Order: sequence, then C-alpha cells, then structure tokens
Amino acid sequence: MVGNITFTMLKPDAVEANNIGPILAKINQAGFRIVAMKYLKLSKDTAGKFYEVHKERPFYGELVDYMSSGPIVAAVLQKDNAVADFRTLIGATDPSKAEEGTIRKLFAKSIAANAVHGSDSDENAAIEANFYFSQIERF
Ligand code: UDP
Ligand code: MG
Repeated sequence: MVGNITFTMLKPDAVEANNIGPILAKINQAGFRIVAMKYLKLSKDTAGKFYEVHKERPFYGELVDYMSSGPIVAAVLQKDNAVADFRTLIGATDPSKAEEGTIRKLFAKSIAANAVHGSDSDENAAIEANFYFSQIERF
C-alpha cells in the first residue's frame, strides 16, 4: 500500500531526557503501528551518510555531530497517510513554531535538538527505512 509507512528517529536529546517512553506513547496513541525498531548510536560517518541530502546546508556539520553524540531510537511506523500524519504529529522543525500538543512542542530543546525525525515523502520513507532495517527486521 503506497503511503502507509514513515521512518522516525528519537534523537539524542529525547533519549538523554528520558523521553523515549512518553514519545512512543504519543506515537501509539496517534494510531501508528511499530513495524521495526532499534536502539543504537550512529558513528559520524553513518550520520553523515543518512543526512547526505543536507550536505550543502549550513547546519550539516553540526547536525552530523549532534546526531552521533548519543544513542537514538530508529523506527519504521505504519498508518494510512503515514508521512503526512506523522509530520503533523511532530510539528514544525523549530519547536518555538510548533503547534501545541505536537511532539516537538512538548519535547524538543531547540531547532537542532528537536526530539524526533520524520520522513518528508513516501520515497524518502522507503530509502530511510532501508538504510536501517533489513526485511527480516520488519513485522
Ligand atoms: N536543523 C538545524 N538547523 C536548521 C534546520 C534544521 O539544526 O536551521 C536540523 C534539525 O535537527 C532538523 C534536521 O536538521 O530536524 C533536518 O532538517 P529539515 O529541514 O529536514 O527538518 P525536519 O524535516 O527534520 O523538520
Ligand atoms: Mg527533513
């Protein structure tokens, strides 16, 4: 089914603040099913590859340093209209601009340390899910 998965990471700030549980609860309450999940720490090299699309942006170096600074939770989530609905659930990139009740409004520390990643298209959701998970890791 097209459009039924997205990919997320609970970023180092969210893990450090002991917010894995509360964020996963919001994700489940919003109707997403967990297809795949792992707890890991990215190397700088792996973080750099994941964010290669942002290579030319001014924040790329800081983003790579930050995303490799501590453990993260990576997951594939399933729901109808998963990509758009998850972007609504997490809110704007800058938490000061995020809607009340969104995950970033509730849990993000700053525009860089913004608690969660969410895919921006069906195509990127598939690419990002494949970056982390093999077929035998998905249920
Ligand atoms: N980011 C940053 N400074 C910025 C914009 C983005 O540090 O001015 C970081 C932030 O962690 C963000 C990530 O880079 O989540 C990817 O940026 P993107 O524009 O794709 O935002 P997102 O899709 O995560 O909302
Ligand atoms: Mg993005």
